[in-house]
Amino acid sequence: MYSVTILNNGEWATYGTVMYNSAYSSPDYFKIAQNFFLLEGEGKKILVDTGIDDLLDYTTPAQREQFGLTATKSTSQVLAEHGVDPSDIDILIITHLHFDHYLNARLFDRARIVINRNEYLHVLNPDNKPLLPRSSYPREVLAWLVDEAWDRVDLVEGEVEVLPGLKVVWTGGHTPGHQIVTAQTDEGLVIIPGDEVYLYDHVESLKPIGNHYDLMRHVDTLRYIRDLGGIVLPAHDPLVSQRHPTMRIGGKA
Ligand SMILES: [Zn+2]
Repeated sequence: MYSVTILNNGEWATYGTVMYNSAYSSPDYFKIAQNFFLLEGEGKKILVDTGIDDLLDYTTPAQREQFGLTATKSTSQVLAEHGVDPSDIDILIITHLHFDHYLNARLFDRARIVINRNEYLHVLNPDNKPLLPRSSYPREVLAWLVDEAWDRVDLVEGEVEVLPGLKVVWTGGHTPGHQIVTAQTDEGLVIIPGDEVYLYDHVESLKPIGNHYDLMRHVDTLRYIRDLGGIVLPAHDPLVSQRHPTMRIGGKA
């Protein structure tokens, strides 16, 4: 059994065309959260995705005014608030290699790093250059994964039990090697869907996101996550902190 702590760098904004498939899209901006997750169980500390620092740098003055965006917290600050040092993390699971999910990987100098094999090979393949602008795929961190972190990277495929009761499952809709995380808690199954589910609305209304690599795999993934019937914790929904005001699931017994 695991406890899951919802970590949050703050809020920022994105385009309606990113948020929803064009059938549902609007030109409006959406306020989004930057959630990542600390799991504790089996004597280990596991982090799912890395958060990003300086969120406001990714917004415009108009967005900051529209959404009342204020100062955000660095990943180190957020972890420190929970008494966790980056060196305490035993396992870093990366759902996918988009910048806002891996940019701070270099903080974790001791963790095993779990990445889907398709994802890793996709972003390192020069054939895919047109899909991989530097802004979304910071190369200095990819280079670090290949060099300094080489001995700590575990490439996985399909569905893998990382620890008892803690799984990664390849989904491949949002990015070729996207994986979600499921963890058993004493409040039920927690599902960390990465970016297959930006907002609760995507899984609850089965509306596809706008930024997908394989649309039908993404739609199948939304159905799969819905049918798992667990507690879903979207990466970017500001409602996560409202639905879970203690920011913690499991481990209370
Ligand atoms: Zn993404």
